[in-house]
Amino acid sequence: MDLWPLWIALAAAAGGAAGAWWSRARTRRETRALRRQIANLEARLEETARHADERWRRQLAFFDHMADGVLVLDSRNRVQLANAPFRRWFRFGDEAVGRPWETLAPPPALTGLIARARQSGRSAEIEFEEPGVERRLLHLVARPFQAGTAPDASAGVVVVAHDRTRLRDLENARRDFVANVSHELRTPLSLIRGYVETLLEGPLDETTTRRFLRTIHKHTQRLAFLIEDLLTISRLESGAQRLQTRRLQARTVAQQALDDLRQPAAERRISLHNDIPPELELEADPDRLLQVFLNLVDNAIKYGRPGGSVMVGGAAGGDEQIELWVRDDGPGIPPEARERIFERFYRVDKARSREQGGTGLGLAIVKHIVQSHGGRVWVESQLGAGATFHIALPVRQPAPRTAVGQATATDHSRPAAG
Ligand code: ADP
Repeated sequence: MDLWPLWIALAAAAGGAAGAWWSRARTRRETRALRRQIANLEARLEETARHADERWRRQLAFFDHMADGVLVLDSRNRVQLANAPFRRWFRFGDEAVGRPWETLAPPPALTGLIARARQSGRSAEIEFEEPGVERRLLHLVARPFQAGTAPDASAGVVVVAHDRTRLRDLENARRDFVANVSHELRTPLSLIRGYVETLLEGPLDETTTRRFLRTIHKHTQRLAFLIEDLLTISRLESGAQRLQTRRLQARTVAQQALDDLRQPAAERRISLHNDIPPELELEADPDRLLQVFLNLVDNAIKYGRPGGSVMVGGAAGGDEQIELWVRDDGPGIPPEARERIFERFYRVDKARSREQGGTGLGLAIVKHIVQSHGGRVWVESQLGAGATFHIALPVRQPAPRTAVGQATATDHSRPAAG
């Protein structure tokens, strides 16, 4: 019997089976490889997503730490980003992102600004004063933007809020200062004009003429003091001159001020005492320190008790500091005025200060000089029991110092009443 066809058929079947086995094995291998690739791809995608997430968080943290407020709205007016300053200033919660703009109860002025920017396709800006105690002034600029280059790309709006409160306060302070200066100049000037006009009108007896001339002289001097103090303030603030510091004895500088003010003190029968220990030394600008003593002792004489006493003292404090003080036994300073007397033109008793030839700038100058030495000044007082002005100053000055102004050390006595 011829078995060949059977062998051939068997061989073909075996070959077929082997082929199928190989092919299945290859498919399995390929599937495994594919699975591995998919797993790799997934891991890479996860990694990329994690990186993107981290980058976004970093960017958000960066936005949150900006000084300006930033708000981004998408084309459907949903909040895409509202950084921390923006949320704080407009009292939006942390969950503002993702929410429709109207649901945040935004101020109508801000909604109007955004609508204007959208409609015009151009930047729009407003100044917005935050309600509440702080009355923060914000400058808001809304700018439309196109997310992408396609014509149908969605359009959003970005709003940047810049805090202008400090600028406004400075501007107000400048305006108040100019108004105050004008007022201070106008008063003595109109008095002088009045007296001169009366003198011009007709002959007056010798005694009245002399009295008028004395009054004119007093107000002219007041004007001169005011201008001198204004110049000192202006030089101090512009930093036109450097602090010329050297090691000096506080007692010696204080004594110079007391000597300069001996006459006005005698006029009010006030005795002057220097109790600063001679060993008390510090690094300071002698002219500036003299100006501090002159202004404080001058005040103590002007506002102190007639027939009373003024004492200058000092002691070494901790932390490389020394403390100096000027004490009088006058009427003292009411509690509500103790901070404010260091402001320019602030006076407890306006009429009294003017009568004494005060400019309202003496303590502002003291504060400026003390602060430029890295120190501080404050007052302690009991009504009816006098006032003590304290100055804490560092013993050593870092070199080089910042600039401060020039003070005049001559004729600091103010015109007496009369
Ligand atoms: P002024 O030129 O008016 O004296 P200052 O700046 O030197 O200006 O002082 C501001 C105000 O502080 C004074 O007008 C006065 O009301 C008050 N003051 C200053 N020193 C004393 C003091 N030793 N006793 C009482 N009041 C004082």
